Amino acid sequence: MIPAKGYAAKNAQDPLDFFHFERRELGPKDVLIDIEYCGICHSDIHQARNEWGNSMYPMVPGHEIVGKVKAIGSEVTKFKVGDLAGVGCFVDSCGQCSSCKEDLEQYCEVHVASSYNGLEMDKTTPTYGGYSDQIVTTEKFVLKIPSNLDLARVAPLLCAGITTYSPLKEFGLKKGDKIAVLGLGGLGHMAVKIANAIGAEVTVLSTSPSKEQDARNLGAHHFQNTKNAGEMEKLMGHFDYIIDTVSAPHDYNFYINLLKRDGTMILVGAPPEPSTVAGFSLILQRRRLVGSLVGGIAQTQEMLDFCGEHNIVSDIELIPIQEVNAAYERILKSDVKYRFVIDMKSLKEA
Ligand SMILES: [Zn+2]
Ligand SMILES: [Zn+2]
Repeated sequence: MIPAKGYAAKNAQDPLDFFHFERRELGPKDVLIDIEYCGICHSDIHQARNEWGNSMYPMVPGHEIVGKVKAIGSEVTKFKVGDLAGVGCFVDSCGQCSSCKEDLEQYCEVHVASSYNGLEMDKTTPTYGGYSDQIVTTEKFVLKIPSNLDLARVAPLLCAGITTYSPLKEFGLKKGDKIAVLGLGGLGHMAVKIANAIGAEVTVLSTSPSKEQDARNLGAHHFQNTKNAGEMEKLMGHFDYIIDTVSAPHDYNFYINLLKRDGTMILVGAPPEPSTVAGFSLILQRRRLVGSLVGGIAQTQEMLDFCGEHNIVSDIELIPIQEVNAAYERILKSDVKYRFVIDMKSLKEA
């Protein structure tokens, strides 16, 4: 086994703390990555604190992982030692079911191995994530990172980037389409950048007028305060797409009515309680309400290449790992622009 160190949640209550563990020996198809940076996703907090009820401890969170290849197995062809590499939300899947065969591993019907708080394909060995110094991952689930991008700022693309890129591509956003982005956090700020690069006309909808300048700096063409009823009235039937990144409770019907005929509202934020949707708000204008979960490996690579081409990275605050617990508290107050990324050099010095 390969000795590894990181930060782990030992239970749902206590702060994350230093943790020694082991990574598997390098198999023929495995890549060993020296982790340089790992983004902090809001789902790390949900899982570290067992808010989804499925947590396994000790837990090393982190699924926005970037670094350099340190060693490769004998059958690895895609990577060589020294290459930049990334690992996202999952590290294996069955490879046989219809979803896997269509490059949609995240929807694997048999078993998908989440990058942490999950089980490997043997359904016994726990997976440990990116708040650590290194990771061993089967080659197929390792992404190539464009070399022109700032590596620390690439990390959030592995979850926040693909979560927004995938549905925009799948549901057909194109140049000239009008899209509204709901919520300007980790996901929302990536949606603005990606939709802008696709050539869409981007409007940020927000309850806080103070976000207008930031929205425009990120690439939004318009900003609308949703509390201004008169101006909202004028936007009824206006948008081809809405991407909804909000995970706090909110009224879907209010936003669905902003869509044109055949418009699509995409959910990527999940409020804890079910919401009511009026059938007629969909029926009368043949609108669609859809959801989407991250993206498959092939599309994640496509997204990274797209970001390389368009110079898209996340806006981040780089922190040493010793500040991870404080960062969690700030995320809960939406006090970050727009993603925390852990500099793993700090772990090595610990
Ligand atoms: Zn995530
Ligand atoms: Zn499968």
